[in-house]
Order: sequence, then C-alpha cells, then structure tokens
Amino acid sequence: MPVGYAVVGLGNFALDRILPALMRTRHSKLTAVVSGDLNKARRIGAKYGASRIYNYDSFDSIKEDPDVDAVHIALPNSMHWEYTVRAAKAGKHVLCEKPMANSPAECLNMIEECRKNNVKLMIGYRVHFDPGNHEAIRLIEDGAIGYPKFIMAAFSQRTTEPDQWRLNFNLSGGGALMDIGIYCINACRYLLDNEPESAMGMVSSTEPAFAEVDENVLALLQFPEGILASVNCSYGTRRVDGYVVDGSEGWIEVRSAFDYWTPREVSLRRGDSITTRKFDPGDQVAAEIDYFSECIEANIEPAPNGLEGLKDMIIIESIYRSARDGCRVPVNYQSVASAA
Ligand code: NAD
Repeated sequence: MPVGYAVVGLGNFALDRILPALMRTRHSKLTAVVSGDLNKARRIGAKYGASRIYNYDSFDSIKEDPDVDAVHIALPNSMHWEYTVRAAKAGKHVLCEKPMANSPAECLNMIEECRKNNVKLMIGYRVHFDPGNHEAIRLIEDGAIGYPKFIMAAFSQRTTEPDQWRLNFNLSGGGALMDIGIYCINACRYLLDNEPESAMGMVSSTEPAFAEVDENVLALLQFPEGILASVNCSYGTRRVDGYVVDGSEGWIEVRSAFDYWTPREVSLRRGDSITTRKFDPGDQVAAEIDYFSECIEANIEPAPNGLEGLKDMIIIESIYRSARDGCRVPVNYQSVASAA
C-alpha cells in the first residue's frame, strides 16, 4: 500500500511541484489537502484526486483519518514548527519543507515531539536527490580534485513582491540566508561531509523591500583541516546559482546546482584539461517523497532528518550572530549531540 500524504499549504511550491510530483510517485499517494481556503482545497483536491479536505482549524482531526499516514508541510517558515508538532501529536509522519523552522529551539522541539509520538521527521532537502550534485560529491570522494581547500557557493534570486511572506520577519525568520543561502550552507556540508567549526557573516539591505529581512549575505565558514567556504546569497540580484570547489589537484564547478529545472553543468578541471558533463535535474521532489515513504515502510531513519535541519539552523544563527556582533563565532553543536 502506498503511503498516504496530506499536503499542508497550497501555495506555489505545493501547486507547482509537490502535488504534480505525488502523481508520479510509486510508494506514495496524495490522500488529503489542507488549506486556509476550503473552496481552494476542494478544487485542488478534486483536480488531484484527494478526497479528504481539511483547513487549519480541522487539521488535528487527521488523527482519525486512516488514509493519511504522513504530511508534507509547505507553509511559511514560521508555521513549520506548529504544524510539525500538531501532525506528530496526530500520529502522522512529517516531511517538512526547508528551512526546518525559525530557530534551533523550534527545531529541537520538532525533533522531540516526533520522537515522543513515534513518527519520522524528514526535511525537504530535495537537492539531496539531484544527480548533478551526486556527481560532484562522487568526484570529491574519488579524489578527482585532490584535497578540497575552498568552496564558493552562491544562490540569489530577486524577491521583492510587497505581499510576499518571505519579506516579513515574523513569518520568514530571516531573508535570503534562511530561504536560499541555506542551499549553499547545506551544499558545503554535503560536499565536504563535514560541519563548519566557525562562521563569520556580513549582512546588508539596500532597498525598502528588505526593511525587515536580510537582502544580501556574505558568510565565511571554516571547516576542519582549514577548508574555507564562502556563501553568497541575495534577494536583490538576478539569479545566480552554483558553486566551485577548489582542490590541490583541480576544481569542480557546478552551474545551476540548486534550482529544480535547469540542467546541471558539472565541470572538472584536472591539470590543463576541463571536461563538462550535463545532468538532468531529475524528478527531485518525487524522489524525495518516495524516499521518505520507503523510510516509513521499512522503519528507517531518513538521511535528511531533523538533526540535519537543526545543524543548518545552528549555522544560520551563528552567521546572523556574527553579522550582528561583528566578530567570528564558533558554531556550537551541543544541542545536536544532546538530541542525537
Ligand atoms: P507560498 O507563499 O507560495 O505559499 C505559502 C502557503 O501558505 C500559501 O498557500 C498560503 O496561503 C499559506 N499560508 C498560510 N498562512 C499564511 C500566512 N500567515 N501568510 C502567508 N501564507 C500563509 O510559499 P512557497 O514558495 O510555496 O513556500 C512554502 C514553503 O516551501 C517555504 O517554507 C519554502 O521555504 C518552501 N519551499 C521549498 C522549495 C524547495 O525547493 N524545497 C521551493 C519553494 C519553497
């Protein structure tokens, strides 16, 4: 039996990606939709064959719904904590969109509540299911560039719509860093298979649209063995998307590393030769949902779990603290160790 999903929040990502992806999964099935607008929920439910319709008030009654095994939360960031906890209390597994929550404290509580209620928690790091990024990881692991020394990762896209929750601090928890810089941070971690020890950040906002949240962020991360990474993200510029990993024997560049529609160009330089291969971005969201369903069916802890989301939030918080205090900040993973 496929795992039954309730999609919570019917915004752009749910409508454009999650619901269509659920039509292509093998181990997963859309059974319910949850929205503040019941008419919209009924219309979308009918379109995608979901018979169970909930709004935010009736959400807790999914506890009694045998067709809902798991929820996929695609709400503004500030709502991830509440809906994860409510879903866990209803005994439903949780696939929560990135960023996991607005603070490490919320992340910890989400992990605790999911454990207490014996449900699985996965964070929607769809890039973990992307073939181009897998290739970059494989090349580094195989020693294709020798010892990695530097990573330069960037993700920017202009985001200025006045009614956009991403520009409201209470709903978003922060600006470009929380929303898109997180991809760069996560990439540095999966490319090096390690965690940064210290962070420095600089933040600026140059337009009225970004009065409440960071527009531009430049962060420096120091990893073990002296490997340095820069993370560069902005809500004020046109699209920039990719990273370069410099090593003792060469470099890898991945262009279009983070979006979900552009073919990835993975270039490898060794000596004087540069080779470039293109990778289809793949069906990342369907693969991610099916992977979570397989974890549920086999009772396996998902790889991008709550601890993975918590680590990124700890790093983000350290970058913001560094920017505020004007100094380098050690990244403290004590809460990860206690939650592990
Ligand atoms: P969106 O604005 O398009 O949709 C948000 C939904 O939440 C809407 O249906 C809206 O009605 C609802 N909502 C409920 N309460 C709200 C409130 N108080 N204010 C505003 N909206 C409210 O946003 P989105 O782009 O779909 O993003 C939703 C989540 O998905 C975010 O956490 C975002 O980071 C994540 N996301 C992930 C990816 C990815 O590639 N994994 C891509 C885009 C968005």
